[in-house]
Amino acid sequence: MKFDVLTLFPEMFSPIKQSILGRAEEKKLIEINLINIRDFSKDKHKKVDDTPYGGGAGMVIRPDVVYDAYKSVYQKKAKVIYLSPQGKVLDQKKVEALSKEKHLILLCGHYEGIDQRVLDEIVDEEISIGDYVLTGGELPAMVLIDSISRQIEGVLKKDSILEESFSDGILEYPQYTRPEEFNGKKVPDVLVSGHHENIKKWRRKEALKNTFLKRPELLENKKMSEEDIKIIHDINVKYKNVPLTNKKEVKN
Ligand code: SAM
Repeated sequence: MKFDVLTLFPEMFSPIKQSILGRAEEKKLIEINLINIRDFSKDKHKKVDDTPYGGGAGMVIRPDVVYDAYKSVYQKKAKVIYLSPQGKVLDQKKVEALSKEKHLILLCGHYEGIDQRVLDEIVDEEISIGDYVLTGGELPAMVLIDSISRQIEGVLKKDSILEESFSDGILEYPQYTRPEEFNGKKVPDVLVSGHHENIKKWRRKEALKNTFLKRPELLENKKMSEEDIKIIHDINVKYKNVPLTNKKEVKN
């Protein structure tokens, strides 16, 4: 997967050159190119922004510099994504779909944003990382690169992504490691029993419990087995005791 990032602040991207992503790039599983939009300014002071037509606070990035930066990397079949608070909010489904692409061009705004005309001309999709406003698209671009890269074969061990939160539409079960006892708290017995079937059942139950207690809305339209429904019912009786009004209980 090739990522071309159009940004005014390429120096902000060192976090994604470390650790797992750094190794993935070394192994050529991913390629991250940082393109400084400022290099495409024709102004003698390398200015890239100007005041908004119609007045108002802040500065707007000029369309011509963004367009020239884009043209320097564009190739057929590349998908252009503008990181924007106005975009569709990123979720795991979207991440998985984007990981099937071969070439993404990520456009990072800054200040008040980017002139609409160039956005209309080059952008295929706007993506937001949440309903809040950041100072620039650099952190969102890094979030996108990180989340997509972990889906690419060879970046992580296969099992690492299979059971993770959202992989099956629900949250993951709790994890434990050594020491077996910490501050008087022991690791659940089942995890040291060596009984794989029981461990699997315990993990499913804990994953459903986590989801029901922390993010119940994830279960709303989820197809569930009889066994899962019974687990949720028992968790509800134990921890919440709220009426389970979702129709799936009746349907499934
Ligand atoms: N004036 C814009 C608006 O109200 O929609 C906000 C501009 S914001 C201060 C500057 C840049 O940060 C945006 O162009 C975008 O690239 C990025 N940005 C800010 N919040 C974001 C979010 N939640 N998701 C993705 N990108 C975001």
